[in-house]
Amino acid sequence: MIENYLLYLRFLDQKLNTFFEKQKPYIFCKKGCAGCCKNAQFPYSKIEFEYLSFGIEQLDVETKNIIIKNIDDVLKQKEQFKGELFKYDCPFLINNVCTVYNYRGIICRTFGLANVGADGRMKVPFCCFEGLNYSNVMEDNGNKISAEKFKKLGVDQEPVAFNTNYEFLTDPDFERGFKFTFGEIKPLVEWFVK
Ligand code: SF4
Ligand code: SF4
Repeated sequence: MIENYLLYLRFLDQKLNTFFEKQKPYIFCKKGCAGCCKNAQFPYSKIEFEYLSFGIEQLDVETKNIIIKNIDDVLKQKEQFKGELFKYDCPFLINNVCTVYNYRGIICRTFGLANVGADGRMKVPFCCFEGLNYSNVMEDNGNKISAEKFKKLGVDQEPVAFNTNYEFLTDPDFERGFKFTFGEIKPLVEWFVK
């Protein structure tokens, strides 16, 4: 079944690469910038977690040990957390670099693109408000495109939102089309709860 998931991932990566290419003037992602890997929930389905596990196996012992400690720390924070929505820094992020990059989940592959919000409007990534993605074309409140900024950029590509919602990308239609199942979905760190 993992082979079929890999076919889906290849299809997804191709789509996302096209989206990133179309949005190139607005994307400022670079190695070492990892705000999107922090303070979030990171939904992972069973098959994504299985694939991630292959990536973990490839790592050297020292890196694995750091990750094990990170996971322990996050799970301890979770135990003490009293609020409704527990958010954490991804345990696989070391020195602001993803240690399992090729094996990362679906949500991780969409980081950086503008998305379609529940109200159908363009939803820019949080880092827009930190002077990063789409900040060069959006009004300061991030609610709408600035005609003035767009004109100043002098680029052909318009800023566009694509439907990269996790719910959409894990739709049963993909399971039927590629002949695999995503399985249970839960926050990444919960896959490590014994
Ligand atoms: S999505 Fe934003 S925070 Fe994440 S790497 Fe790209 S620019 Fe940095
Ligand atoms: S798996 Fe990698 S890309 Fe995904 S949240 Fe963790 S560090 Fe970031």
